[in-house]
Amino acid sequence: MNREEAKKRIEELTELIIKYDKAYFVDDNPLVPDAVYDQLFRELVELEAKYPEFVLEHSPTKRVGSEPVDAFRKVEHEVPMLSLGNAFQEQELLDFHRRVTQAIGNDVEYICELKIDGLAVSLTYEDGKLVRGATRGDGSVGEDITSNLKTIRSIPLMIEETGKLEVRGEAYMPKRSFEQLNEERKEKGEQLFANPRNAAAGSLRQLDPRIAAKRHLDMFAYGYGVWQIPEVGTHSGRLEKLQKLGFKINPHWEICRSIDEVIAFVKKWTEQRSSLPYDIDGIVVKVNDIKQQEQLGFTARTPRWAIAYKFPAQEAVTTLIDIELSVGRTGVVTPTAILEPVFVDGSTVSRATLHNEDHIRALDIRIGDRVIIKKAGDIIPQVVRVLFEERKEGLEPYRMPDHCPACNSKLVHLDDEVALRCINPDCPAQLKEGIIHFVSREAMNIEGLGEKIIEQLFDAGLIKSIADLYRLKKEDLLPLERMGEKSVQNLLKAIEASKQNSLEKLIFGLGIRHIGEKAASLLAKNFKTMDALKNATFDELVAIDEIGEKMAESVVKFFKEEKVVQLIEQLERLGINMTYLKDEPEGQSIAAQAVFANKTVVLTGKLEHFTRNEAKAIIEANGGKVTGSVSKNTDLVIAGEKAGSKLKQAEKLNIPVWDEEKFIEVIKGE
Ligand code: NAD
Repeated sequence: MNREEAKKRIEELTELIIKYDKAYFVDDNPLVPDAVYDQLFRELVELEAKYPEFVLEHSPTKRVGSEPVDAFRKVEHEVPMLSLGNAFQEQELLDFHRRVTQAIGNDVEYICELKIDGLAVSLTYEDGKLVRGATRGDGSVGEDITSNLKTIRSIPLMIEETGKLEVRGEAYMPKRSFEQLNEERKEKGEQLFANPRNAAAGSLRQLDPRIAAKRHLDMFAYGYGVWQIPEVGTHSGRLEKLQKLGFKINPHWEICRSIDEVIAFVKKWTEQRSSLPYDIDGIVVKVNDIKQQEQLGFTARTPRWAIAYKFPAQEAVTTLIDIELSVGRTGVVTPTAILEPVFVDGSTVSRATLHNEDHIRALDIRIGDRVIIKKAGDIIPQVVRVLFEERKEGLEPYRMPDHCPACNSKLVHLDDEVALRCINPDCPAQLKEGIIHFVSREAMNIEGLGEKIIEQLFDAGLIKSIADLYRLKKEDLLPLERMGEKSVQNLLKAIEASKQNSLEKLIFGLGIRHIGEKAASLLAKNFKTMDALKNATFDELVAIDEIGEKMAESVVKFFKEEKVVQLIEQLERLGINMTYLKDEPEGQSIAAQAVFANKTVVLTGKLEHFTRNEAKAIIEANGGKVTGSVSKNTDLVIAGEKAGSKLKQAEKLNIPVWDEEKFIEVIKGE
């Protein structure tokens, strides 16, 4: 960013933040999430530090909160009510510690408190009586909200100290009260509060105290302005004193004797915060000794002896650079937002889902827009909304293309679906996605065959269908990026092993429309072999509990396709198991187990009643092992029609040989 741009950005951010401040502090109706505000605020702080010559007179970085509104009587704070410096990362806590120890030496003790997400209030006591309650306002002048604060039950109206005391704390709305309040407002068709913090602020800034009284607010005391009662010397001592006087103190504070202990406290509450019945947005770390606090003093906006660590934000602002379209396995075209990379909640986000055309339209998102993105838990980042206030002129509304980005055929909406689809069965993007699906964990579970490798193999023309996976050779794989001798070996082994999967994995892997993992399992269990499933009629299919008409239709249609028939034939020839192996396959019996357990069996010739794989599955289900060649380790050979060299070899080595009939007898337990 050059100087000119920096100047412009500083002006832009100044105006924007002033606007957000008013909405948040005065109207109790924030326009953006806090994390977004914090990010913009920080950007301004950093730019101002780099270009002090451009700092504007009315910059929000120089002041606290917002001016009090006229509706309330104004109150001047005897000791200014400041904001807190922020830390978003561990390093910033370490920096804070360094600044503190540089100023006052290494003998420092910290106190960590939860940062309650409400609004700062001040309570002044004279001669033991609550004489005034106020908001923070702009830090120097606040609003007199005494009658509203008096409605909070946990605020003592009288205390047993006669010296002047100004107690500070956070007024907040517990999560449950907030939910109830919003529930009621929804029923009445009133505007909902964005979060408990704004609900609390909105309630305390009502002119009619009866409204505040109904809102179930509470307050934790965490500080003080004027302290003209006996000194105790430390912040923790003062908190205990306040507690004795009848104030509600949050119980989760801890003394930390090193910055490592502080970091451990922060980590603990980052994990546990959701279990609290009220919102916290961070941890406040304070130097415990009051004398040391005084030594450290204040900047214009914040004390130097305290810092607020803010929990990782799940939301952030960034710019939409492009919209990328991808074609899924079923032909659905999905738009993805390509974003200027932004760090959110521990990782950098550069892509977010946009779902579909309708969603794009609802967001009215345009390339070049500033957008709010949200990352919550493991969910793929989402674009929450566009910052219209920041929209540059001339950005065009986004239009989805009419043609498939992969194969250029015309896109369609099927049966009033929102999604746009490519219906070209040969679309390369769909084929590739189909293979990725086939090898996935829930399907054939071929470990080591990730998306990247499939893409490389596909683009190199080495695989065009799933059957090609089983034709891959060492020489095909070795030239690929990041594929060494060992990984190739492992991969080939994994491909080979997948041939023995039970039928349901193959059915799911084929990607039949409407047939998910569970339906695949049901089909395998009921039909037992691919052959039976292939020939299943609509009626047979719908007769199965939980297989609906749509699914049944889809299965019948799928197996009618010539391409599918060929694919299955190929897979069978390549040795992929086509039977269900999970529960007792036909042919499992005590007699059979006695014969096959721990035995090595070789199948040769053509069996009349079983495919090779079916016979193999039966032997394996009975505890045996099937190998490809006859050696002295072979226990038994089962020979069908036209058995050749393997039979001869068995005879030579004196290994028992059975015909198919004998095999059937044994498995039937006869
Ligand atoms: P702050 O919230 O970062 O920190 C200071 C405040 O922390 C204190 O005033 C006090 O109210 C509170 N606090 C809670 N527990 C405390 C404890 N144990 N000890 C001391 N203080 C404690 O700073 P701020 O100046 O109050 O306001 C900035 C905040 O308001 C930011 O979180 C910002 O995201 C939010 N904000 C949001 C918008 C928006 O548009 N969303 C606009 C303006 C401000």
